[in-house]
Amino acid sequence: MNYLFQLKYIILVSVLLLCISCSKSRKNNRVEEVIDKSATYYSIEDFKLIKKFDIHIHINTDETHFINQAKDDNFQFLDIVDDRPFGLPMDEQQKFAIHHLENFPDRMAFATTFSVKNWNNDDWVENTILDLKHSFRDGATAVKIWKNIGMDLRNETGEFVMVNDPGLDPVLDFLAKNNIPVIGHNGEPKDCWLPLDKMTFSKGYYSSHPEYHMYLHPEYPSYNDQINARDNMLQKHPDLKFVGAHLGSLEWSLDELAIRLDQFPNMSVDLTRMSNLKLHTLNNRQKTRDFFMKYQDRLIYGTDRAINVSTDSISLKKNIHDGWVSDWNFFVTNEKIILKGFGELRGLKLPQKVIDKIYYQNAVTVLGFSHK
Ligand SMILES: [Zn+2]
Repeated sequence: MNYLFQLKYIILVSVLLLCISCSKSRKNNRVEEVIDKSATYYSIEDFKLIKKFDIHIHINTDETHFINQAKDDNFQFLDIVDDRPFGLPMDEQQKFAIHHLENFPDRMAFATTFSVKNWNNDDWVENTILDLKHSFRDGATAVKIWKNIGMDLRNETGEFVMVNDPGLDPVLDFLAKNNIPVIGHNGEPKDCWLPLDKMTFSKGYYSSHPEYHMYLHPEYPSYNDQINARDNMLQKHPDLKFVGAHLGSLEWSLDELAIRLDQFPNMSVDLTRMSNLKLHTLNNRQKTRDFFMKYQDRLIYGTDRAINVSTDSISLKKNIHDGWVSDWNFFVTNEKIILKGFGELRGLKLPQKVIDKIYYQNAVTVLGFSHK
């Protein structure tokens, strides 16, 4: 008797659970069907026909192979000048940017930056604003703030200067007042603060660059220090148009990114962490797709491609083209994609109106790029 009761109970619970899971999956399918029915989609064949914008490019050469490929593939782009301690110095980067802008004003815009070499001098603010004014006169439409603020620059007493440092406020106020967007690369991927065997994607890079691997340097600010400083800076400057580079350094969590996008209405992010986006999709495609639907006005396509002097322009151009097509395939279709080392996922197949925003309209809006 007791046994029979238990058996009935088990059957009842199983049936109930089955019903709940059926209705859940029906509901999920229904959400997708509703979206699918009310929307139209691009295909892989539309790639060249649709006007697109790549908001994160670094051109380090006067060669024009990249720009010609952008023209062939119907891309406009933002060339970003960085204050980085390796490669081409920022003044040289800016010279190339101005040179290309003169020749291709309809194809590109450029983001300038500012030096923090004389940060501890009394006239740093005054000189920095003057330098920025010169750059805007020369055609710059945005300003890049790089991770050297937060991870390298120190004040007179040897403490790290974070991006919310009061010393930066007059410069950020000046940019906000003049409606100049800031591209902020603040901190690094979360991987940077983890041991190599706990990293998701960056093992190769940090094993060959231990000097940048923050897990090995606990005396440096933590990951949370970087994110908190950035958030606090945005709190202090609510009118600043801000694009968080690399998914705002919150590449590991769509939930954490959503919190910031809700909290800071003038914040958008570029999508230059494709592997993370693919991993989110592999783990939960519906959730990732819902994220893109909800924040479709705040996400901007970009690749963070560096263009150096080439020895083989044909393979360079092919490489650029193939990378852009592969990303288009992920966003536009639901085809199977392999994420190396993780598994198989399907593309997000976002509706045309969302693709138009993340691939063009959002960039043009934030940069005030009015070219045809
Ligand atoms: Zn970059």
